[in-house]
Amino acid sequence: HVSRPADVVEARILLPIVTEEQPIMEAVLLNPAVIICGETGSGKTTQVPQFLFEAGFGSPGSDNPGMIGITQPRRVAAMSMAARVAHEMSLSSSRVSYQIRYDATVSPSTSIKFMTDGVLLRELATDFLLTKYSVIIIDEAHERSMNTDILIGVLSRVLKLREEMWKAGTADVKPLRLIIMSATLRVSDFAENRTLFPTPPPVINVAARQHPVTIHFNRRTFSDYVTEAVKKTTKIHTRLPPGGILIFLTGQNEITGVCRKLEAKFGVKALERKRRQRQLAEDAADEHENTALGGDIRPAQADVEAEDLELGNHQVDDLAFDVDVDMVDEDPAALDSDEDTEEHQLDQELGLDLNDTDAPMHIVPLYSLLPSEKQMLVFKPAPPGCRLVVVSTNVAETSLTIPGIRYVVDCGRAKERRYDIANGVQAFQVSPGHCYRLYSSALFEHHFEEFSKPEILRMPIEGVVLQMKSMHIDAVINFPFPTPPDRATLHKAEKVLGHLGALGVTTSVTKGLTAAGVQSIDGQITELGRLMSLFPLSPRFSRMLVSGQQQGCLPYIISIVSALSVGDPFLHDEGLVADHEEEAMEGLEEADRTRRKAFFTTQHTHSALGNFTSDVFRILSVVGAYEFAGGGHKFCAQHFVRPKAMEEIHKLRAQISNIVQTNFPSADAGFVPKILPPTDMQLKVLRQLLAAGFIDQVAVRKDRVEQTSSSGVKFTTSKGVPYKALGVSEDVFIHPSSLLANTAPPEYVVFSELIRTTRVWIKGVTVINPA
Ligand code: ADP
Ligand code: MG
Repeated sequence: HVSRPADVVEARILLPIVTEEQPIMEAVLLNPAVIICGETGSGKTTQVPQFLFEAGFGSPGSDNPGMIGITQPRRVAAMSMAARVAHEMSLSSSRVSYQIRYDATVSPSTSIKFMTDGVLLRELATDFLLTKYSVIIIDEAHERSMNTDILIGVLSRVLKLREEMWKAGTADVKPLRLIIMSATLRVSDFAENRTLFPTPPPVINVAARQHPVTIHFNRRTFSDYVTEAVKKTTKIHTRLPPGGILIFLTGQNEITGVCRKLEAKFGVKALERKRRQRQLAEDAADEHENTALGGDIRPAQADVEAEDLELGNHQVDDLAFDVDVDMVDEDPAALDSDEDTEEHQLDQELGLDLNDTDAPMHIVPLYSLLPSEKQMLVFKPAPPGCRLVVVSTNVAETSLTIPGIRYVVDCGRAKERRYDIANGVQAFQVSPGHCYRLYSSALFEHHFEEFSKPEILRMPIEGVVLQMKSMHIDAVINFPFPTPPDRATLHKAEKVLGHLGALGVTTSVTKGLTAAGVQSIDGQITELGRLMSLFPLSPRFSRMLVSGQQQGCLPYIISIVSALSVGDPFLHDEGLVADHEEEAMEGLEEADRTRRKAFFTTQHTHSALGNFTSDVFRILSVVGAYEFAGGGHKFCAQHFVRPKAMEEIHKLRAQISNIVQTNFPSADAGFVPKILPPTDMQLKVLRQLLAAGFIDQVAVRKDRVEQTSSSGVKFTTSKGVPYKALGVSEDVFIHPSSLLANTAPPEYVVFSELIRTTRVWIKGVTVINPA
């Protein structure tokens, strides 16, 4: 009763999964949980829902009338796959529908529902039994995203409950089935985890694709992979036969940069212009344009790229990639020239003009912060005569099939959490095609393992625990994680969340020797915690944002949260070498003295915000000044701040402002880059918010809590003055980079960072109760 268009029927027969329909359906009918492995392109996402549908799932009146639900890690995948499956079965979008956070086509007659994993998690909070569904497919489980792992854990329990209720004859309750789909064979965390599934679920392996992809590794790994990607794409475009090009980069910044560059070289307008110029024989102008292209793409550490926003992840992108020397393949003669030689031959074979082409590129960016309708543009065919070029983050890989792609240029770097050695880009459906990797094969073997760790083990655990609590998973310690985090870490996270007010705290009086009140976390999420969980940020920062809607403080707190996420932008080396006393200055060259003086002058200027009481306010001051100056390297040099950090802070401010506005539509959080300095009243509120966010990172001057030799001594600076910090056994000291190292030692401070070197230092210090 399903009618498919003729071309679909033809294409379907070739998909490896189609021959597995019967074993798959048998396994599904006989087992509550089934695992399907098959590399990308084998047909899992588009076909398995159809197998289920044809077996009666999702049809009223059948044995399994509940909907077929399929989760996707990304919004664009949920939307495009729903459209594809609807097309393949000639059904309307109200039968094969999608639901993402802000948009849906679901209707009462929906049989197959594609959704983001976040949507299903939210549904679980209101309907734990998932009564509307007869089967849930968790797709892309190999990515091991936090949401996927949690979903699988929860669903293992829902299966059990539904089965028990069905056996007990509860009216209208049918068993639920679970299908876990993975593009790799590494599924032992699901298949062999007895806490999760007491009876191991069967694993069905689908044969590999029919069209192998030729993989070309670079001889060497280039550290400037962005420029390298533009070069490689240029070569493919000018030298190789038609077919789409897909370029993988790490983030939005790089993507827009590369798009601009390619647009300038091969965009419709650029070629049009070129042709006119050629007609006018203005060769010189042409030349100029070409040289102008080589310039200023910087590898962007700056941008944050994730389905919503991810913080604390910025270090990942530099990984171990500056390894040009070590990773060169054995043959030194082949070193730099090999690629060119290879291509030279190719050119000759193909008889192509090396430098020019009249075919324009149709260039489309793809990254998750791009609005969904813009993302969908990658599925539109390029205008006639144009070559489709998709410039994408590598998160998009594995779940999407972009029609017409024949070449892949892969920078091999993933700032994102998801990169998988076992499939990498081979997983992308290119048939038959070529994949150019801008790194050496040795690097591939050695360095990609790092990306395959489950996200749950790499995320700040407080955020994970808060998300789970907001889903009413209270017993986090006993939760059946596919890969459980350390128990002690979970405990600590609960404690921090209790301190932050996100979880309820009960005070009980213990009897016996100590009659002190003992606080214990009761594990239930509070209203404050629920609001905090709406932000994809560290709970400390969410705490500040949720409480920051008073006295017009939001723009400041957003700036502070952005800056603290990025890290201290100041270059402190100038100040750390020696004190700024005259003696120290004497031995210095004139230029160094001037520079040093300039450093201390700007430090003084920015420290004045809040009257020399907060490193955080010092950063807030420089962020404000930067925006008023319109940014730029000159400003950064003058103020001794890192340009990358400043750009990144600027971008995060915009993103967090958006998130705040989404969650609190009434809030006055619209992003206005330029903000006036905060008033005294606002500074007071900001100080309270900082104290609330870092409530468990408080330090008290040691001589105020215990009798020490120095009790009663009057200190002139904080240097060498010991502090006691909550939960730290050693004495801690204010770091020399803090402005408070040079002031009289305050009694109580909060700090944003604790580092251990020869001593235990606290950084990012703010006085709680300034005089
Ligand atoms: P898997 O989930 O195993 O990676 P899919 O089910 O996504 O595989 O894709 C199977 C096949 O369906 C692909 O090889 C591709 O040819 C086809 N396909 C998927 N999406 C589209 C689309 N939007 N347009 C055209 N063909 C598509
Ligand atoms: Mg898929």
